[in-house]
Amino acid sequence: MICVVAAVLFGLSLAEAAILPERSVITDHTSAGSLGGKWYHRDDHPAHALFKRQSIPGDGVTYPAIGSKQWLSAYPQGLPDTSKLPQEWVNALNAAVAAGKIPDLAPSTNNAAGLPTYGSLKPTSPEVCSGTYQCQIAGDIWAAPDGFLGCGFDDGPLPPSPRLYEFLQQQNQRATHFFIGENMLQYWQEFQQAITNGDDIAVHTWTHPYMTTLTNIELVAQFGWTMEIIHNSTGGRLPRFWRPPYGDSDVRVHAIAKELFGLTAIFWNQDTNDWMLPGGTTLAKINTSMTKWLTGPKSPGLIILEHELSNDSVQAFIDAYPVMKANGWNITSTAELAGNVPYQNADSSTAPVTPANGVIVGDINSSEAPSTSSATSAP
Ligand SMILES: [Zn+2]
Repeated sequence: MICVVAAVLFGLSLAEAAILPERSVITDHTSAGSLGGKWYHRDDHPAHALFKRQSIPGDGVTYPAIGSKQWLSAYPQGLPDTSKLPQEWVNALNAAVAAGKIPDLAPSTNNAAGLPTYGSLKPTSPEVCSGTYQCQIAGDIWAAPDGFLGCGFDDGPLPPSPRLYEFLQQQNQRATHFFIGENMLQYWQEFQQAITNGDDIAVHTWTHPYMTTLTNIELVAQFGWTMEIIHNSTGGRLPRFWRPPYGDSDVRVHAIAKELFGLTAIFWNQDTNDWMLPGGTTLAKINTSMTKWLTGPKSPGLIILEHELSNDSVQAFIDAYPVMKANGWNITSTAELAGNVPYQNADSSTAPVTPANGVIVGDINSSEAPSTSSATSAP
């Protein structure tokens, strides 16, 4: 669950790091500000149809309550069984492969140092473009616009999370939580608290694997279940952003995230190493790094990798927050940098959800609510 590889990569020489095809920042997005009652993607994008939903007006009204028996039994415990995926997800993958949208790249293999390798292919070559080796694929986000600081946390929800959420609420500060699927299931009360706070929920996969080591269908399972639990627990909101565990993505993983699920990856440009607490680093060291970044140049803006993994990692943020404020950073939820919207079908965690068009995965309420059981497509 922690980002062991980051420390290894910290020593990567600049010559080894590649930027391909060119650095992309969040200003590339065209729909900043508001979706205007539309979906972020074109109407025939698979993401519209892949998730179970209540399709007639007020999408989201009758989803099972978080923590209810029905909710708890709707998702995989641990590693998802790829033979038990909704058929629509499998069909969407097959269609995307057949249409040539998914690069024919074999999964990577982790070497002795834990780094993904690709046989004879260079990880920084255009055929691979591995995020682990700092190769940047156009459209992914690696930095914030000038003067902006993206506030976000990885790996929750977990027992240390409520203290963070209370602090954020006290400061009236919105954040993005890159949540792990199986943690949402296990720590559903903390998950609920983040939603109640009005924070943005983004995807950090179901079990936090090195995504590039997985097969296509395993990737579909990791993305699909994480999207599904967020969708069905936030009144039908479909996240627009994901963060690769360990920063590990490549052209194939990127394509499945984008073409099937409509997801854009957000990486980071500074790493606190707070996942090494306690032992591998100290609060004092993190504070020194934070102060250096926060009092330094504002171009580019900052996306700092932080975690809600431990009481100390939460403390590291609480200690740094006054420094962020004192130095005039424009602090927004990472998913809302420069006015971007955090969901594919809603302007915010509190704005209305736009119903989906077309055929969708079955009505999740059909067994409980016969009056809506025939509603499998939008009006
Ligand atoms: Zn993580």
